[in-house]
Amino acid sequence: MEIKTDALVLRSTDVGENDRMITLLTADLGKIGAKMKGVRKAGAKLGFAAQPFCFAEYVLAEKSGRYTVVSASLHDGFFPLREDLAAFYAAAAISECCDLLAFEGMDSRALLVYAADALEKLCGNDPAAVLVLFLIRALAFAGYPVRAEETCPYCKKKLFGRMRFELSCGAFSCGGCGKGVPASEITYSAVRSALKGELFPERDGNLRALRLLSAYFSEKTGAEPRSFTDLFDMI
Ligand SMILES: [Zn+2]
Repeated sequence: MEIKTDALVLRSTDVGENDRMITLLTADLGKIGAKMKGVRKAGAKLGFAAQPFCFAEYVLAEKSGRYTVVSASLHDGFFPLREDLAAFYAAAAISECCDLLAFEGMDSRALLVYAADALEKLCGNDPAAVLVLFLIRALAFAGYPVRAEETCPYCKKKLFGRMRFELSCGAFSCGGCGKGVPASEITYSAVRSALKGELFPERDGNLRALRLLSAYFSEKTGAEPRSFTDLFDMI
């Protein structure tokens, strides 16, 4: 049986003499592994489709639950990512988060759209701002929404100045309420921007928001994405 689906390459590993195993985030099948035969031979026609961050329409042959790539037609390879180290590390973080959040058989179309949009935005924007926007969307997709209301959820006072962020429920509160970790107003502003689908213009706010969201991601998923550690060393 052949299946046609949009997909993004999250990981790619050499196997055997000339083959590769790729991990795909697909629109229709969730996260799957697929074999690409002969793709490491010089001049292999589908070489592009075995590269990390390749976003393409894949045609897959399925046999007993195993997939082999038959053909692929490229949507975007996000090639500028390879010329900017910070953007490349941010792209690796996006891939790793998708890898941790997706599983086979789930409806992952929305996550795929968020990831492809983020990879495109990484070509030319602040990587931290793009990652904050992606994480807000990906966490909501996974059932862990972030809340940054205008007022404190406990005392209903307008939020400003020193605040708290509760890692258990993903919400900002005022500095006097709740048991969250301390959070600054600029962190809150960066998160509010991302919740509106916008890239926040101030780098300091984006970096702070990114640290907070990576802590929230770990709290909720129990995973500590390695690529975040690399990224924080880089940006
Ligand atoms: Zn309060």
